[in-house]
Amino acid sequence: MLKRRGILFVISSPSGAGKSTIARMLLKSDPTLAMSVSATTRPIRPGEVDGKDYNFVDLDTFKQMVADGDFLEWAHVFGHRYGTPKKPVYDNLAAGRDILFDIDWQGAQQLFQQAGGDVVRTFIFPPSIEELEARLRKRGTDSDEVIDARMARAASEISHWDGYDYVLVNEVAQDCFEGVKNILDAERHKRSRQTGLIGFVRGMSKAG
Ligand code: GDP
Ligand code: ADP
Ligand code: 5GP
Repeated sequence: MLKRRGILFVISSPSGAGKSTIARMLLKSDPTLAMSVSATTRPIRPGEVDGKDYNFVDLDTFKQMVADGDFLEWAHVFGHRYGTPKKPVYDNLAAGRDILFDIDWQGAQQLFQQAGGDVVRTFIFPPSIEELEARLRKRGTDSDEVIDARMARAASEISHWDGYDYVLVNEVAQDCFEGVKNILDAERHKRSRQTGLIGFVRGMSKAG
């Protein structure tokens, strides 16, 4: 048996490109994968579950969490604050689990620094800007003003794509999901991630 340390697996994209959709498919396909549930000050959307999609908190609570050092990273995104709670990440890593992060480019950069570069970063493109807008509208969770603001930020988010290890286009969700899953699988098998041999394999390597 091989023993390896957990992977911090980041997915970013412009809003509406489908990263939450892909994240949900990954979590469903792999019960061993943990999701990092962020805290946010943005209002809850219809269909979202507090504690599952996000921990929805008010500004004062968020500021207190920052002051208490509760976040691994946090950032302003679309006029609200989003942060990655530290404790669940440490707990999951200690339990040997890989962790999925749905965070923006600022979060990816901060996490990369916190983890000494040991992060796998994947960026998801929409097939086109027109399709991005169509998906945001079809999702039906945001007002026209919010959609306009997210569209206005899309180009600037895409400009950070060079800070990622892998890039995919989310044309057909199933294909994109399989692509991301293949990346995770390959990363799991990297020689550099294996911290040692356990059980009979260690005996075999000694015998050899
Ligand atoms: P307000 O002063 O509470 O209205 O909030 P602001 O929007 O002015 O920002 C509060 C603080 O957060 C400022 O000191 C910003 O420099 C800082 N800040 C903005 N963006 C980021 C970020 O991405 N990461 C971190 N760690 N701090 C940020
Ligand atoms: P993000 O998390 O990046 O903001 P979502 O996962 O919420 O994006 O996806 C935005 C909308 O687009 C949702 O309504 C989702 O069902 C839809 N969607 C996601 N991927 C695809 C795809 N490949 N083809 C068509 N629609 C998609
Ligand atoms: P949404 O409001 O659509 O759920 O998320 C808006 C953006 O915030 C997305 O780009 C998402 O990846 C990002 N985001 C969500 N949680 C976090 C977090 O904890 N930290 C950072 N830096 N970004 C986050």
